[in-house]
Amino acid sequence: MTLSVADKKILIQSKGLRIPWEVEKELAQRFAGVESDYPSFFLEGSTPVGLLNGFYTEASPFELRRHCKGYAIFCDDEPFAEVSFLPRTPFLDRRTSRGIAMRRIVKMVAPGFPIIYLNTGCMYWGEKQCKFCVVGHIDTEKFKNPEDVAETVEAGVKDGGIKTHVALTSGALPKDKAIDLLAATVKAIKERVDIPVSVNLEPPRDLGKLEMLADADSIYLNMEVYDPAARKRFLPGKSEFSPEYYFRAFKACLDIFEENQVCSVLLAGLESDESYLRGVEALAERGVLPVTTPFYPALLSKLADEKPPSAERMRRIYERSVEIIRAYGLDPFKTKAGFMRGGAIFALKEVWKEM
Ligand code: SF4
Repeated sequence: MTLSVADKKILIQSKGLRIPWEVEKELAQRFAGVESDYPSFFLEGSTPVGLLNGFYTEASPFELRRHCKGYAIFCDDEPFAEVSFLPRTPFLDRRTSRGIAMRRIVKMVAPGFPIIYLNTGCMYWGEKQCKFCVVGHIDTEKFKNPEDVAETVEAGVKDGGIKTHVALTSGALPKDKAIDLLAATVKAIKERVDIPVSVNLEPPRDLGKLEMLADADSIYLNMEVYDPAARKRFLPGKSEFSPEYYFRAFKACLDIFEENQVCSVLLAGLESDESYLRGVEALAERGVLPVTTPFYPALLSKLADEKPPSAERMRRIYERSVEIIRAYGLDPFKTKAGFMRGGAIFALKEVWKEM
């Protein structure tokens, strides 16, 4: 049976990709976005793939190996798929005017955009942390300076390393502080370079503050889980925001941002598929693009011993998500920035193209 590129992507994301240490070391010198816990690459030419490997990956049949003059993914010792990587461009070896290494500011992902974590840490860390998260305690010394970020983005765009858009994200901070940091960084980037920027945050306590993000192109308020009981279990801190509060926040976002620019990640595999798909529909019917993404049990998270949902399960969830999103007239190919535009970490867009 011939597998489509969507099938291959779904399979690799459900099983993980083993990357031998010597291969990772060699790739990291030549390419961007190749780290064994969060690898990113192109499959069969131009399909972007990203995934979070974990303990589950040790049992994966998929391994990255040298092959001919390049690299390939092998499945049980048979060639399975061609892979290529993002070129490593010179800005990653430069420093900002304040002396910060630019490679420490960006996490490059295929097809050529950086995810920038503006702060390391979250106010829920400890008892209330999300069980799949690895962000850690707040460390104010590690907050990124908006000017350092903007200078790095400008350098990346100029040397061709950053091609399409920029994704800014922040852990939850007290008193809606994350929104201040995001707004200042969007402004600093836009003053230097004309590139779409997305912002990723938990809903602010003061919804009026969303206006501060109006210069961004796309916004992500990630519900992660829809079922209220599963939300309490997996997101003890963040579930203090009810789904109804998210819906109010989405409404406020839709007054500010254009169609297909308000998005929310839902992690498949942490609740029943019925409840998950009710969540997809609840978002889509409100004009919010659901980012259908498998749950990945990251190393060091509280769910590190779990597995992502199976490929068969994800295929069904993607197909139903595509039907729901289309029924409400939304289009993930029109999102200007962020995970939905990049499309590496999930296979929704590949399944969409097949249907
Ligand atoms: S709120 Fe965000 S940063 Fe904080 S633990 Fe949850 S996912 Fe991680």
